[in-house]
Amino acid sequence: DDTKSLNFIEHIIEDDLANGFSKNKLRFRFPPEPNGYLHIGHASSICLNFGLGLRYNAPVNLRFDDTNPAKEEQEYVDAIKRDVEWLGFNWAEEVYASDYFQQLYDWAVTFIKEGKAYVDSQSAAQIAEQKGTPTEHGVASPYRDRSVAENLALFNEMKECKFAEGEHVLRAKIDMTSSNMLMRDPIMYRILHKAHHRTNTDWCIYPMYDWTHGESDYLEQVSHSFCTLEFAMHRELYDWFLDQVVASDKVRPKQREFARRNFSHTVVSKRKLLQLVEEKVVTSWDDPRMPTISGLRRKGYTAEAIRNFSNTIGIAKRENVVDVSLLEFSIREHLNRVAPRVMAVLDPLKVVITNYPKDQEEWLEAENNQEDESAGYRTVPFSRELYIEKEDFREEANKKFFRLKLGNEVRLKNGYIIKAESCTKDTDGNILEVQCTYDPKSRSGSGTEESLRKVKGTLHWVSIKHAIPAEVRLYDRLFTDETPDQHKDKDFMEFINPDSLTVITGYLEPSLKTAQPEDFFQFQRLGYFNVDTDSSAEKLVFNKTVGLRDTWAK
Ligand code: ATP
Ligand code: MG
Ligand code: MG
Repeated sequence: DDTKSLNFIEHIIEDDLANGFSKNKLRFRFPPEPNGYLHIGHASSICLNFGLGLRYNAPVNLRFDDTNPAKEEQEYVDAIKRDVEWLGFNWAEEVYASDYFQQLYDWAVTFIKEGKAYVDSQSAAQIAEQKGTPTEHGVASPYRDRSVAENLALFNEMKECKFAEGEHVLRAKIDMTSSNMLMRDPIMYRILHKAHHRTNTDWCIYPMYDWTHGESDYLEQVSHSFCTLEFAMHRELYDWFLDQVVASDKVRPKQREFARRNFSHTVVSKRKLLQLVEEKVVTSWDDPRMPTISGLRRKGYTAEAIRNFSNTIGIAKRENVVDVSLLEFSIREHLNRVAPRVMAVLDPLKVVITNYPKDQEEWLEAENNQEDESAGYRTVPFSRELYIEKEDFREEANKKFFRLKLGNEVRLKNGYIIKAESCTKDTDGNILEVQCTYDPKSRSGSGTEESLRKVKGTLHWVSIKHAIPAEVRLYDRLFTDETPDQHKDKDFMEFINPDSLTVITGYLEPSLKTAQPEDFFQFQRLGYFNVDTDSSAEKLVFNKTVGLRDTWAK
């Protein structure tokens, strides 16, 4: 919408348009490397780039930055496509940096012919050492002045897989005295004897990120290439590489940077997330404790909530840590509007209604969502033996305890007013059962004087003989520290929360019997829950998505 104020990225585009850049030449891309699953940090970049596409009615490519076969896999490509689609975005073209390997190679050959690139036959360590430090000039490689003919022959043999990994690299011949270390003859190609998930064994030399990214943008005629701040220093190199190839009648891509997002109590680096999977701290990339898009989805987050969150935190110029409770706020806000309300008891205590006939049952009308009239009604069974939450009963309690206590009344949601008369305990003093009486005229919605009677507390409950047992998975923060990967002296793995998952059996009202994976609900008074992909008709499995309020707030 045009009413919202522009962020600094949109200002860059608006300025270009004001300076005569043609609106129909705007083109963007989202460029993930398929070396892991997308995470909540990527959602910012996705919402930025695809958001610009929607705002300016411009195409946005999904570009896989697949130049490192050592770490990339088809599984990740598939997962990334699934996640971007699920988030609600459509890409113009699905493209791969590897589609450009031949073009990049041909350009590199031209560079050699023009004296702009050379084969260096030193070790990586020697090359690094000669780069020097920002305050002193680098030292030129003894191979820097190899003849064009020799460079062409060697580069061809590199391509023909005649050498072992590390024997040679191709370097751009730029400036060993530059104050920008990245301009000191950066590596363009390295030898890797690894099969690629798309080009298979066609290549055993692979282009470096810096050499690939800008040229890919150019080949796709991307007008604005947005990346995170760690690439700010790379911009000079991005431009240098473009200078060598850009034709005057083509769009020259423009790289601009925005701040990478970090989130409290988690990590968002694919390398670290992979470590969590490989070391079995979590079960998979889409484990609900993971900050991945697929993990959040499995935990019950909606695409709308993730988009709202990303748009709310917006695009920043400087790095900071976003409190993950903002994300929780966003999903709570969405589910409050759309989640059907149901009753489930997670920590059961048996209640017997002593004046309710033994073989009787009745089905009470219950509203599905008081926030949404169109959600309608369902019925829930009531009978003599019920479960309530253990913490909703105390033998004695002060005046502020508005739940059930001996001698006091509460209303059962959608049902009757009951009064606790006595309770049974085991030898350790644990309460096993509460005996109550009910007021037969007090049924909610029955219109009687008693049904309108006000009592302080309202409890959720289920009828024991009708309840469906289900596995319920409760999640806590994956890390005990707010910024687990920002400690100089400690590894992020030292802050793993050993209690991030608790599995319990809950008792659900029978309307949940047919719930399907990804269905979401509000378990009244407990929080939002969804059906896990592990769930089946024989054994329902639920995840806790988020509580009803922010229990983390101090
Ligand atoms: P990682 O360290 O997780 O591997 P990356 O930047 O290497 O991150 P890419 O697959 O290259 O991952 O990311 C695709 C796009 O998403 C890039 O433009 C990148 O800058 C952006 N991006 C990645 N992480 C974040 C983040 N935490 N916040 C904002 N944007 C991000
Ligand atoms: Mg990366
Ligand atoms: Mg990257």
